[in-house]
Amino acid sequence: VSGPVGSSVIPIVNKLQDIFAQLGSSSTIDLPQVAVVGSQSSGKSSVLEALVGRDFLPRGSDICTRRPLVLQLVHFPRRLDAQAGEAEEWGEFLHLPGKRFYDFSEIRREIQAETDREAGANKGVSDKQIRLKIFSPNVLNITLVDLPGITKVPVGDQPTDIEARIRTMILSYIKHETCIILAVSPANADLANSDALQMARIADPDGSRTIGVITKLDIMDKGTDARNFLLGKVIPLRLGYVGVVNRSQQDINFNRSIKDALANEEIFFRRNPVYHGLSNCCGIPQLAKKLNQILVQHIKAVLPGMKSRINSQLVAVAKEHAAYGDVVESKAGQGVKLLNILTKYCEAFTSMIEGKNEELSTA
Ligand code: GDP
Ligand code: MG
Repeated sequence: VSGPVGSSVIPIVNKLQDIFAQLGSSSTIDLPQVAVVGSQSSGKSSVLEALVGRDFLPRGSDICTRRPLVLQLVHFPRRLDAQAGEAEEWGEFLHLPGKRFYDFSEIRREIQAETDREAGANKGVSDKQIRLKIFSPNVLNITLVDLPGITKVPVGDQPTDIEARIRTMILSYIKHETCIILAVSPANADLANSDALQMARIADPDGSRTIGVITKLDIMDKGTDARNFLLGKVIPLRLGYVGVVNRSQQDINFNRSIKDALANEEIFFRRNPVYHGLSNCCGIPQLAKKLNQILVQHIKAVLPGMKSRINSQLVAVAKEHAAYGDVVESKAGQGVKLLNILTKYCEAFTSMIEGKNEELSTA
């Protein structure tokens, strides 16, 4: 069972980062960004929220996401002297420095208010980012980007070229080679018409960083199912598809929790025999797992570079040592220790990726 995004790699990345911090080294692991793309109301914000495991994004049947939301998850270790029940997760906006939001529904209200401040209250869209940091002991340092959806017909204060503007805005995020694209398409529309897959293909033609996400499996037309979508028989995708069931508008109106929604999703897949045998491409936990695997691949790819940087630092420290005597002994000792640990991790990563062991030991 895998938890929210990043959970299975959290211990290992945090351990590495702790060691680097101790060593005063500037090398850190820059994890890729994850961005959601798709047409309006396809379920992008719902998917992101489910991945993070907290309720805080504006969602709904109308245009809700009207500015890019850059969501930085920041790992903040649990304090040893924390009181029982003390809040250890909070949000902070760049535009409100120093103000901590412990109540996540207040975060949602602030996103809405800040959207209105910049883009007006009448459905206007702006490419000016809202930047939100979420501090928590349960997250990995990763950046998720929620983007406005593609719309075709201008409404409210939207300019006549709204579609082109939104497409340009989306591209400016997903064109980066390090961006993982979650291409979100609703199951109750034809996949061949998917804006998400079309945009993803422009930015990532060989599909090496695009994951297809099919939402709304629960509200497909009677007698139809998403099997062929999920199997890649309609539009093939290298990294494949994951089908999910998010909360419906009614669930949102009734304040149904994420936990309930995940349980409901599981029941849906269990009760629908057409999805049996497709368990590796069904459900939010599976999407989180897929993302984690990509993150692990990424970490594995950057480790050798980090090793050689540390190696050269070590050589420099050793020279310093020779020049000044014993002062830097402990630092060199730490460097050697770090190299050993890194080597161990590289091996562990390799064997994990080759499927030898599922879970990494961080002992
Ligand atoms: P976005 O515009 O792409 O960010 O989409 P939202 O996440 O705001 O969702 C749009 C609407 O679709 C909301 O009313 C959601 O409740 C609903 N929705 C999203 N995903 C699903 C799903 O899997 N099943 C059902 N029934 N409704 C969904
Ligand atoms: Mg949205």
